[in-house]
Amino acid sequence: MFIWLVIWILSIVIATRVAANRGNSEGWAFFWAVLFGPLGVVIALVLPRNERKLEDEALSSGEYKKCPHCAEIIKSEALVCRYCGRELTMPDVTQPHTGSVFKSDEVALEQKASKHISFRD
Ligand SMILES: [Zn+2]
Repeated sequence: MFIWLVIWILSIVIATRVAANRGNSEGWAFFWAVLFGPLGVVIALVLPRNERKLEDEALSSGEYKKCPHCAEIIKSEALVCRYCGRELTMPDVTQPHTGSVFKSDEVALEQKASKHISFRD
């Protein structure tokens, strides 16, 4: 009796995890697993992946971006698309803002220093 309780609870946990990983409703997976136990896991595995939701989640995580040439999902750091092989220009928005501020400060200091030297001459 106790072993079935463990199997049922494990089935519910696994079914909801599988559903989440495949972009499907965790609520429905929970429902099926409560009703059918291990069969709920099978249902979660058999249901087709929700590619649209997985795509949206990947894009919103910031870890992935859409290739502007072929519209496939690729890693944010990618410089070449793995699907169409075309080069991607890196937008500056991925760079931390403070980095550019420090760089411009450095340039300003260098300019001040060179001006100071030229005044002295
Ligand atoms: Zn591409």
